[in-house]
Amino acid sequence: MGNLHFMLDDLFGRLGVDYIRPPASSTRTLQIGAQHSPEFACLPLKINIGNFIEAMEAGADTLIMAGGHGPCRFGYYGIVEERILRDLGYDFKFMMLEPFNDGAWAFYKTFEALSPGLSIRKLWKMLKVSFSKARAFDRLYKRALQLRAYEVNLGDTSRTLRQAEEILSRPRTPEEIEAAAAEAMTVIEAVEQDPGREVMRVGIVGEFYLLLEPFSNFGLEETLGHMDVYLERSVWVTDWIAPNRDNIIYGYPKKDIEKKAEPFLDQNVGGEGRETIGSIVMFAERGFDGIIQLLPFGCMPENIATSIIPRVQQEHDIPVLTLAFDEQTGRAGVITRVEAFLDLLAARRRSKAGALRA
Ligand code: SF4
Repeated sequence: MGNLHFMLDDLFGRLGVDYIRPPASSTRTLQIGAQHSPEFACLPLKINIGNFIEAMEAGADTLIMAGGHGPCRFGYYGIVEERILRDLGYDFKFMMLEPFNDGAWAFYKTFEALSPGLSIRKLWKMLKVSFSKARAFDRLYKRALQLRAYEVNLGDTSRTLRQAEEILSRPRTPEEIEAAAAEAMTVIEAVEQDPGREVMRVGIVGEFYLLLEPFSNFGLEETLGHMDVYLERSVWVTDWIAPNRDNIIYGYPKKDIEKKAEPFLDQNVGGEGRETIGSIVMFAERGFDGIIQLLPFGCMPENIATSIIPRVQQEHDIPVLTLAFDEQTGRAGVITRVEAFLDLLAARRRSKAGALRA
C-alpha cells in the first residue's frame, strides 16, 4: 500500500525476519482478488486477497494483516481474508497485527512471535527508527504533490522522486536517516520549476487505501500534477499509524479536523468518513479551488460522507467531485470526469475574477 513497504522493509530488516514483499499491485492482482472475494466487498479487500495470493506464489508461508475495529468493515477484513484463502486450499500461518492503541501487549506479542527473544525496549527502538524513515518518505511525497504542478519538464518530479526514494531507502542509523532525508528533499526541490504558473489548488480527501495506493486510483495524483494541479491530501500513512493522530504530515491534528466536521457530522462513522467532511471544510477555508473525494464503491463511511457533502458544498461554496472505484472502473472514464471538473473550477475562477473587476 503506497510507500508503506519502505517502512516495512526497514523494520523487518531490523527484526531479522525473512520476508517476501509481494509484487506491486497490478491488474493481475486485482483480477485474482476480485475472482475470489465477495462481490460487494470493498476494493481494498479484493486487492489484499490478490496481494496475499501473489505473496504465497512467491514463497510466503506466513501472512500478516493489520487488524482494526468497526464500525466499518475493516474490523473483520483479516478474518474474512483468512477464511477466503483457507477455503481456496492455501496452507499458511496467519497473524493479525492489532492497532497499538487497542493494546500495547498484544501489539508487542505479534512482533515477538516474528522475532523470538525480542524485548519491548528493542522493538520500541526499532519502530522509532523505521517510523522516522517512513515520516521522511511522507514528507517527500507531500512535497512532490505540490511541486509537480510547477515543473518545467513534464515528468521531472516523478523521475526525481525515484532517485530520492533510492537515497532514502538505504540509510540505517537515525543520523544517516536524517542526512538522507535532507539530501532526498534537496534533490526534489532542485526540480526546475515555473513559480509564476497559474495552477489550480485541489484537496484530495476520502478513504485511506484509495488515497495511499496509486494503483487503486489509476495514479490520479500524478495525472493531476501533470495537469498543473497543486495537490494536498488529507491522509498520510505515518499520520494514520501514529497512535496520537497528530497528523504531522497533513498539518492538522485529527481532533481539529473532527471539530470542523462537527456541524455536519458529530460522530465516528468508521474509516475516514468524519475526516473527509472536516477536511473539505478545512480546504474550503484555506481557499482551495475544489475537492476530489476518492472512495471504494460500497465504502460505508465514505458513502455517509458523500450523502452529507452537498450541504458542506453549499455552506462553504466549494465544488466537490466524488469518484468511486471498483474492479469495473475504467481509467478513461475517471480522467474524463476529472477534466470536466477542472474546466468547471477554471470557469469559476474566471467568473469570480470578473465579478471582482465589475
Ligand atoms: S473504510 Fe470503507 S473501504 Fe475501507 S474497509 Fe471501511 S468500508 Fe471498506
